[in-house]
Amino acid sequence: MLRLPPFSYLAPRTLSAAVRVLADHDPAETMLVAGGTDLYPNMKRRQFEPRQLVGLRHIREIQALTGDPQHGLSIGGGMTLTQISHHPTVVAAYPALATAAGLVSTPQLRNMGTIGGNLCVDTRCNYYNQTYWWRQAIGFCMKKDGDTCWVAPGSTRCWAVSSSDTAPVMLALDAQVRLVGPQGERLIPVHDLYRDDGIRYLGKRQDEILTHILLPPTDGWRMHYFKLRRREAFDFPILGVAAALRLANDGTCTDARLVLGAVASTPVVASEASTQLIGRRLTPEVIEAAAEMAFKPAKPLDNTDLLLSYRKKMVRVHVARTLRHLAAVPSPPPRG
Ligand SMILES: Cc1cc2nc3c(=O)[nH]c(=O)nc-3n(C[C@H](O)[C@H](O)[C@H](O)COP(=O)(O)OP(=O)(O)OC[C@H]3O[C@@H](n4cnc5c(N)ncnc54)[C@H](O)[C@@H]3O)c2cc1C
Ligand code: SF4
Repeated sequence: MLRLPPFSYLAPRTLSAAVRVLADHDPAETMLVAGGTDLYPNMKRRQFEPRQLVGLRHIREIQALTGDPQHGLSIGGGMTLTQISHHPTVVAAYPALATAAGLVSTPQLRNMGTIGGNLCVDTRCNYYNQTYWWRQAIGFCMKKDGDTCWVAPGSTRCWAVSSSDTAPVMLALDAQVRLVGPQGERLIPVHDLYRDDGIRYLGKRQDEILTHILLPPTDGWRMHYFKLRRREAFDFPILGVAAALRLANDGTCTDARLVLGAVASTPVVASEASTQLIGRRLTPEVIEAAAEMAFKPAKPLDNTDLLLSYRKKMVRVHVARTLRHLAAVPSPPPRG
């Protein structure tokens, strides 16, 4: 049985208390924990060995959803994935987010796992998501305890894969995140929360708490999230396709954002594919052309489930499926 390493657990009850606790401890030895569904297994494998954890579960300020689709939503980073996937406003107005949250892992993990934890979840790699002894047997790797990347041995960076289901959706929706820490508070586009680096994959300080996600008004956007994984019952994505589109009454696309998950160390915005949709109707030819363009920036490596050639091919297939789904769904209600 794998056991957790020893650590102190600090349980502030307010956001300001959490910030004080973080200010009093060395960020290099301190981590935040919400549901713990990713962090605790990782700690058991000694991928992380913090001296103290700051628990976020008792902080009520980060557990509420406010706002409406006309003005935008504020979603507390401490809300569980079950709450998000069942919330009537999210289901009705931001269905791609409800879908993505509802496809994470299993019901038990969604009851514990939070949206903040999902957006900050560690990157993954076959050479890293292993027990300490397995990793020791290969001489460890650059992401933890070693200095070589076994996926790309000549590389100076880590290529572990961004595997959050909700992150691509947040980019497609153009969300912002509020970060609060000992250095103060800031609001950043969710795009800036991610970096294309398997080790330093977050563009936030270690001691910043993701307190809220701000979603813009729905404003006529239609959206969808598609997830490809080995087992439908539960598994991390081997491909996520998040798409948000606005279509005029005659079916012409007036705005588009396509984002791919699980193909790099960061969610990948398929900008060329998105741009080429604008000003066109979603005919089969236009959809195929966009899928072809989205296929190009996706560069999966041989470090997650299934063959990389299959994963790459599936980008074309599933971007096309996602766009066909969006072309067929009824128009969202006009902005009210
Ligand atoms: C078997 C299994 C299957 C899984 N399948 C999936 C899957 O299909 N898709 C998927 O996306 N994930 C999956 N996960 C990963 C994980 O369960 C989810 O990503 C979950 O949402 C993580 O949320 P959490 O609250 O449990 O995060 P935690 O485990 O508590 O934390 C995860 C990371 O986020 C940081 N963190 C947590 N909350 C905050 C915050 N508010 N502000 C700043 N940093 C924070 C922590 O410091 C830690 O680094 C799986 C995990 C397991 C064990
Ligand atoms: S991509 Fe390379 S450095 Fe990163 S976790 Fe995998 S083997 Fe380690």
